[in-house]
Amino acid sequence: MLKCGKINSKRWVPMKIEFSNTYSDLGSNFGQSIEPSSAVDPELILFNHDLASFLGIDSSSASENELAGIFSGKTILEKSRPFAMAYAGHQFGHFVPQLGDGRAILLGEVEASNRKYYDLQLKGAGQTAFSRRGDGRSSLGPVIREYIVSEAMHALGVPSTRALAAVTTGETVYREDALPGGILTRVASSHIRVGTFEYFAYRKDEEELKVLVDYAIKRHHPDLSNEDEKYFEFFKAVARRKLKLVAKWMGLGFIHGVMNTDNTTISGETIDFGPCAFMDIFSHDKVFSSIDHQGRYSYHNQGSIALWNLSCLASCLVPLLGLSQTEAQKKFEPEFETLTAFFKDAWRDVMAKKMGIFTATSKDNKLINEFLKYLEENKMDFTNSFRELPKRLNDSEGIYKQVKKRLEEQAETFEEAISLMDSVNPYIIPRNHLVERSIDLSIKEDYSLFKRMVEAFKEPYKENQNHLDLTLPPKPDEIVYQTFCGT
Ligand code: AMP
Ligand code: MG
Repeated sequence: MLKCGKINSKRWVPMKIEFSNTYSDLGSNFGQSIEPSSAVDPELILFNHDLASFLGIDSSSASENELAGIFSGKTILEKSRPFAMAYAGHQFGHFVPQLGDGRAILLGEVEASNRKYYDLQLKGAGQTAFSRRGDGRSSLGPVIREYIVSEAMHALGVPSTRALAAVTTGETVYREDALPGGILTRVASSHIRVGTFEYFAYRKDEEELKVLVDYAIKRHHPDLSNEDEKYFEFFKAVARRKLKLVAKWMGLGFIHGVMNTDNTTISGETIDFGPCAFMDIFSHDKVFSSIDHQGRYSYHNQGSIALWNLSCLASCLVPLLGLSQTEAQKKFEPEFETLTAFFKDAWRDVMAKKMGIFTATSKDNKLINEFLKYLEENKMDFTNSFRELPKRLNDSEGIYKQVKKRLEEQAETFEEAISLMDSVNPYIIPRNHLVERSIDLSIKEDYSLFKRMVEAFKEPYKENQNHLDLTLPPKPDEIVYQTFCGT
């Protein structure tokens, strides 16, 4: 382990990062101070200079070696205090009292140009007190997947954690095969999850629970600090962000795959890109996770599951509200009715815009559902069918006639409706078979497709004939049916 910016040649690393460590300052009940240990001979694959600049990190004069050292945890910068966060979680509905960062280590927080603080975390950085039987490592595949998909999510306009750097560690990681080890530097507006609250609630540690909620309010909703009912208002704000997020996922045919409470941030950012995928052929019941046998996290179940996860958060907050269980129930029950309606409206709004409808009403549910049924029955590609909708408005088929009729009824012109559709129906999404292909190539040290995809997804709504091949659905032998956790 090299300390304080020294690198092999014993010269100083010119790069500095002004870390703060407000989360690790919360104390040892919140996690473990631990240094990264998995990087033996790190090499940089890709660094996100644009994101670095947003985060106020001057990477322009840093060499690839320096970046590889810092963003693998081999070099620990002066102000960084590495920390593995404690959390619990409901995994597929079953409560696990202690999960925590078993292979991720927080380096600290940085203040970005929008004056907000962001976590920098190394994923795949080595064992921690939370590793249980895991090796604390990540193979290269999940690093490649998360880099591509999280950056695409961001470019698609969906709140998401982001990718600052991808490196190889120089270690071999053993899964079913021997694979190259990798580390992703993940950037998040925080890594606090529903499971973080569950960790303290389960231990009946009201003191630390309050510290956590106050910290979360200060970081994510400072406007609520002086509210009389700040804890309840905090819940309401978190819930709305989460439900809006899921509505956006559904509008893109995205299936998260493991919506456990430990993978549910309170910032409303998409996190953890394990068995996730954007659907090719549309199916309401589509599941990608190899272990989701009951369809708990299927495409159409995501709204209900988000509400279920929020009910876990609500239970954690009850002790802080100073209410009895019965009183709490009375308070939360109508709120959950409101949230259920909120999600339906958010979903309708997202889907209606995809069909060119500016102001949707409950009457539009029927048309949206009929269009989705049409896609499902005809085994049509979700992304391309929406993108091509403007071209099909004169088709003789009933469903297209219905859409056209609805668009004629609104005040906006056809041109305006088509611009709306083009602004929300992506031309290009990271299709699963391409992500898998880029992983296979990366394992053989060919990063060309990975880098090409990262570039291509920077402008996902813009038609670009150079990327036409990336817009095509998989051929039958290219279809990926399942993706896996266990990174
Ligand atoms: P995930 O399913 O990726 O959200 O991870 C669930 C839990 O398993 C978290 O506590 C992770 O830190 C832990 N975990 C996953 N993979 C590993 C690993 N290779 N080594 C140690 N812990 C791991
Ligand atoms: Mg996770």
